[in-house]
Amino acid sequence: MFPVDKIRADFPILQRSVNGKPLVYFDNAATSQTPQIVIDAIVDYYSNYNANIHRGVHTLSQEATDKYEEARIKIQKHFNAKKSHEIIFTSGTTHGINMIASGFSALLNKGDEVIVSALEHHSNIVPWQMLCEKTGAVLKVIPMDEDGSLRIDIYHELLNSKTKIVFCNHVSNALGTINPIEEIIHAAHKFGAVVLVDGAQATPHIKPDVQELDVDFYVASAHKICGPTGVGLLYGKQKLLEQLPPYQGGGEMIDTVTFEKTTYAGLPHKFEAGTPNICGGIAFGVALDYMNAIGFDTIADYENELLQYGTQELSKIDGLKIYGTVSKTAVISFNIEGIHPYDIGAILDKLGVAVRTGHHCAQPIMDFYNIPGTVRASFSFYNTKEEIDVLVNAVTKAKMMLS
Ligand SMILES: *Cc1c(COP(=O)(O)O)cnc(C)c1O
Repeated sequence: MFPVDKIRADFPILQRSVNGKPLVYFDNAATSQTPQIVIDAIVDYYSNYNANIHRGVHTLSQEATDKYEEARIKIQKHFNAKKSHEIIFTSGTTHGINMIASGFSALLNKGDEVIVSALEHHSNIVPWQMLCEKTGAVLKVIPMDEDGSLRIDIYHELLNSKTKIVFCNHVSNALGTINPIEEIIHAAHKFGAVVLVDGAQATPHIKPDVQELDVDFYVASAHKICGPTGVGLLYGKQKLLEQLPPYQGGGEMIDTVTFEKTTYAGLPHKFEAGTPNICGGIAFGVALDYMNAIGFDTIADYENELLQYGTQELSKIDGLKIYGTVSKTAVISFNIEGIHPYDIGAILDKLGVAVRTGHHCAQPIMDFYNIPGTVRASFSFYNTKEEIDVLVNAVTKAKMMLS
């Protein structure tokens, strides 16, 4: 049996109420909640060894540097990167994607091709559009299917010797679809193209092995994996990171500076200009330890139980349609015929249930289904079947009030 009661006790926020009702938090795809051990790591940093890193000879600076670099190694091990300097700290997924897209603007030529998937988050569409505008490269899109999967057959047709980069998320945030990234990566490599995978939505549920995937770049955000906001990682193969120009100039990223010529520091510092989110990086490491202690396979099995149960119970509501029916993480995106998703979300909030409504930063998917948005309930390992019952009752009530 999954020890969900014990796990829930680790999350102070799950004890609070909202609008006089116990909080039911089903907006995990937007951000996860934070266990006490991560909160304690943040308090410990500011209480005991707050200092700037990589610079000072004094004790506090040494302690902070050691902890921050330990966190980098925890992240390296978690993602199974070959070298710790292949892990670049970022402010989150969006930052990591922009670093690579901006770096490639120096490497692409007019007429080169860039492929993105139709299931992308806006943060994985807009930077590539900007890149194409700057370089004259052409953006191609892998279309999606009614069931929420990608048309991989068409992807194979889009690939050719002009393809330079492919961008795809590992898991779609709007629908939860798990994309066949192994196949996407393998096929791109046959044409000499590199692949960036957006792992923001996969990493809370799946432990990716970047060497086994042979992925070129992989990005994620700590705040979706029980860590704090404002920190994330970019994994890149050493050879590729060395080829890319730095993203920002400043302190920390240089080797020597004169007004004639500046030489850049080696990896990872070349991509880490300025004072980073030191405390956030350390807390990210603690969050990964916490989740690994529970185990990602155990987490995935339990969340899948929640997904099956939620799908079965919500499907009993007349007029309720679920979007995305293929292999997916614990996300249920749905609508009720004739009712705007926002109205359902507002009533659910009155009943203490937190869900996301709207286009989920993925307007092209909503356009595909010809809907303004969906109600998205996304589950985490600290949620329960009883909470799903509360959701189902609340949706039933909302439907009665609104139809
Ligand atoms: C959340 C999310 C992002 C953006 O992450 P930030 O932490 O806001 O930078 C990008 N892609 C996907 C798939 C996401 O779920």
